[in-house]
Amino acid sequence: MRFDLITIFPEFFAGPLEHGIVRRAREAGIVQIQVQDLREFTKDRHRTVDDRPFGGGEGMVLKPEPLFEAVEKLLGRNVGEAGNKNALEPGTAIVLMSAAGRLFTQVTARRYAQLQRLVLICGRYEGVDERVAEHLATEEISVGDYVLSGGELPAAMVLDAVTRLLPGAVGNEASTQNESFSGEGAEGMFASEVVAGNGQPRALLDFPHYTRPAEYRGWKVPEVLIGGNHAEVAKWRALEAQQKTRRNRPDLFR
Ligand code: SAH
Repeated sequence: MRFDLITIFPEFFAGPLEHGIVRRAREAGIVQIQVQDLREFTKDRHRTVDDRPFGGGEGMVLKPEPLFEAVEKLLGRNVGEAGNKNALEPGTAIVLMSAAGRLFTQVTARRYAQLQRLVLICGRYEGVDERVAEHLATEEISVGDYVLSGGELPAAMVLDAVTRLLPGAVGNEASTQNESFSGEGAEGMFASEVVAGNGQPRALLDFPHYTRPAEYRGWKVPEVLIGGNHAEVAKWRALEAQQKTRRNRPDLFR
């Protein structure tokens, strides 16, 4: 799978791409990641990517031209113009990172993991000219209900969440099938796909994990985990996952 990150801060990604699963997936050729400096698509001496907002108000807005041209160059095709829009190849998504976007969830990550190509556009300042959301991006995505200063951290989050779902990226496949938002109890009930009812959560959080020592500062690991009775362990985990979801994410039951 190929990722293209469009940003005015290409150095930002040096850290997030160099560790753990993402690093190994790159080295193994499971993902290919291209960081594109937006300023390469400016034409003036000052390499201007932003301008003042029409209608007045605070801050600066990322201009449309460099973003359209960057995406067109990367995809090797013309997006078109008003009244004459070209369709995108299937298997590609162009995602604008935006606090005003649709929420990114594990469902979204699973959908993206089916694609061949994901272009992630990182906003800055007051945001991005709306024509990018309307006519260039295929979706506008938020990583949570808070405002960050740029789309780079959100893009790194999306890239990470998607990469670890790709076949071969995580050593043990089962570990991405049996975790928060994907666990056994929630099979076929991923968040936002199913209307909750009958006291069933839309998705389930992970169960608690423990490792050695069996007793630490007087706090003991639950007895059932030490006993070696797999059926009992599975029952305990399912119950704990339910209880933890109810405690930390009551919204998933609504
Ligand atoms: N004026 C905007 C915030 C701009 S923040 C608003 O009120 O919605 C600058 C950039 O940071 C955005 O263009 C976007 O790319 C990124 N960003 C900020 N918060 C984000 C979030 N929760 N999810 C995804 N991207 C976000």
